[in-house]
Amino acid sequence: MRIRIHRGSNEIGGSCIEVESSGYRILLDLGLPLTAPDLASIPLPDVAGLTGTSSSLLAIVLSHGHRDHWGLMPKVRSDVPFVMGKVTSQILKAASDFVPDTFSPEVSTFLEHRKTLEIGPFKLTPYLMDHSGFDAYAISVEADDQRLFYSGDFRAHGRKSKLFDALLHAPPRNVDLMLMEGSSLGRLAEHQQFPTEQELEEVFVDRFKHTSGMALVACSAQNIDRVVSIYRACKRSGRVLLVDAYAAEILKAIDHDSIPKPTSDWTNIAVYLPQSQRRQLVRKGIASIVDSYRGLRIWPDELSARSGALAMLFRGWMLDDLEKVGALQGARVIWSQWDGYLKDGPGKKLVETCALKNIPFEVVHTSGHASPSDLKRLASAVGARKLVPIHTFERDRFPALFENVSIHNDGEWIEVASGQI
Ligand SMILES: [Zn+2]
Ligand SMILES: [Zn+2]
Repeated sequence: MRIRIHRGSNEIGGSCIEVESSGYRILLDLGLPLTAPDLASIPLPDVAGLTGTSSSLLAIVLSHGHRDHWGLMPKVRSDVPFVMGKVTSQILKAASDFVPDTFSPEVSTFLEHRKTLEIGPFKLTPYLMDHSGFDAYAISVEADDQRLFYSGDFRAHGRKSKLFDALLHAPPRNVDLMLMEGSSLGRLAEHQQFPTEQELEEVFVDRFKHTSGMALVACSAQNIDRVVSIYRACKRSGRVLLVDAYAAEILKAIDHDSIPKPTSDWTNIAVYLPQSQRRQLVRKGIASIVDSYRGLRIWPDELSARSGALAMLFRGWMLDDLEKVGALQGARVIWSQWDGYLKDGPGKKLVETCALKNIPFEVVHTSGHASPSDLKRLASAVGARKLVPIHTFERDRFPALFENVSIHNDGEWIEVASGQI
């Protein structure tokens, strides 16, 4: 078995790994670089069978639903088998009505935690991971009596940290080559830890209790751990979580007993449709989805009076709508995603607008990726014969932190090689 990283050996984003055995191939992830202005401007990597037919490309396997892992998939011919988690595919489908450059995948096989599946000569075993993206997997690939282990994106300080502990306890054995992400290297010192989701929940409770008007939380509706933290903080502070149609559809798509969603089974959650979104739903011919929010809506003329009892999953473009109905009195904006997005574009504009309108603005966030010490815990539990950096801007730090590091460039074939399983 051999592998080739098409993108990601020296950057975060655009991850794509080709795996080959006995003349057959699969891809692990096919992402869009973080710097890509749009889908059209980034060509597909040089992999036979992505556009023209090639019977040797057996499947494209998606580790999780972040765009830096699936973003180029809409460009691929539609008859290539896609493999991914079931909930990931449901989230992608739900998002495709709202977000540009997305796709609604037809999935041939679903990844399930620790259930081995066979694709040609490859045996894949997925491991459900703690990550800011829901339904995220690390994947072990066996072929030719060799084993590759791809960490995907992961962390150990989220709401699913038990999964990480379980993996440390029972990691894949006899791993010849491990591809491990290193997003946090260069962002966090070796012995520092990121705040946990539970710690963030406490901060949200405090802020919600000390805000007289509406709490506006700018967070990705697909960051389900965070939505749960905010929802729990709402319940603890006597607020109702307000979501728009996009967030409502994402939460409904997950359809998991422990994940809040705007249905009659759940309290403290309601739906508000900004005017421009109502127009968008009509334009897309999906206005009927609002029927499912019956009894759960909060109307524009109610917002002002109820603002002190609401926390909204919010994006900057909604400010005008809220201002028009007088709902910004006493409001506070909490940025709950990567603060790099505040340097330009809509994030920067939001900071400036809040300053102009005297709306308090602060960042309450924790990383979706493992701290250096948690990376070390996984690397030593797996004990791979070869550890290859991926999904990092700081691969040169790997040799000082981990054993058996082997650095490779994009486009280079790497033999998985050696030991018997
Ligand atoms: Zn991710
Ligand atoms: Zn990623």
